[in-house]
Amino acid sequence: MKLKVAIQKSGRLSEKSLELLKECGIKVSNGDRKLKTAAQNFPMEILFLRDDDIPQYVEQGVADIGILGENEVLEKDKNVAIIERLGFGNCRLSLAIPKDDVYDSVSYFQGKKVATSYPKILSKFFLEKKIDAAIEEIGGSVEIATSIGLADGIFDIVSTGSTLLMNGLKEIETVLTSEAVMISNKNLTKDKSEILDKLLFRIKAFKNGARNKYIVLNAPNESLEKICTLVPGMRTPTILPLADSGWSSIHSVIEEDDFWNVIDALKSYGAEGILVIPIEKMIV
Ligand code: ATP
Ligand code: ZN
Repeated sequence: MKLKVAIQKSGRLSEKSLELLKECGIKVSNGDRKLKTAAQNFPMEILFLRDDDIPQYVEQGVADIGILGENEVLEKDKNVAIIERLGFGNCRLSLAIPKDDVYDSVSYFQGKKVATSYPKILSKFFLEKKIDAAIEEIGGSVEIATSIGLADGIFDIVSTGSTLLMNGLKEIETVLTSEAVMISNKNLTKDKSEILDKLLFRIKAFKNGARNKYIVLNAPNESLEKICTLVPGMRTPTILPLADSGWSSIHSVIEEDDFWNVIDALKSYGAEGILVIPIEKMIV
């Protein structure tokens, strides 16, 4: 029994998807760029597909799970479950208009025409905002649609905005922020669910590891209590006495998000010799 995983064959998400499997200890060789390959040390088969096809294949059970952009999942709107957010492939789907146009609110689009490769997501947005606009579906090169007179505005993926600028456009509304997600067929057999649980367990350990840092520092004993509340760790921090009486070494785990704030506070309590070490995997 093997879990069939669909990932993007070649594109922005391919490398990161393979890297994620590798971080989960799963060995995949795709040297010869086949359509499918089996993992060497995990009950898994990997299918390499166009991202557009992945939701449909997962819905039908041709693949059991898939990795792709949330934007694509929402646009295809198939009967699949989003089971994990993966933290890469971040982008946003935005509305853009010619840069010299005045924009006050979304009512700008009333009666206008917008070109996009994401008609479903856009029509849902316009429906929510009660805007009656025409949607022109096109396959690619959306950013040139206004300059060639095809539409009044566009709705497309934006990452830095420089492509928009080059085409004389400005971003005026973000409709969706997206990242790569894992989707699953809704009727997996018990055997496959068990393999999937193992995979998700590993992904979580990897994500926790990436989000946290191991921290080691020396602290004067009088500020131990304050410092321990700053770096509470997984259960509690480890405190070891230093040869120099009056000082201790503290070992703990902190989150990347509030990292610099914690470091600043630690210094103000007299902490010294602070080491911050990456964590490869973290099982809580
Ligand atoms: P395929 O040949 O598989 O259909 P594609 O051309 O549709 O590929 P890519 O351009 O490789 O797709 O993008 C895949 C996904 O990467 C997007 O759907 C989106 O979720 C994400 N992504 C992240 N940043 C960007 C970006 N700057 N431009 C486009 N997509 C991005
Ligand atoms: Zn695609």
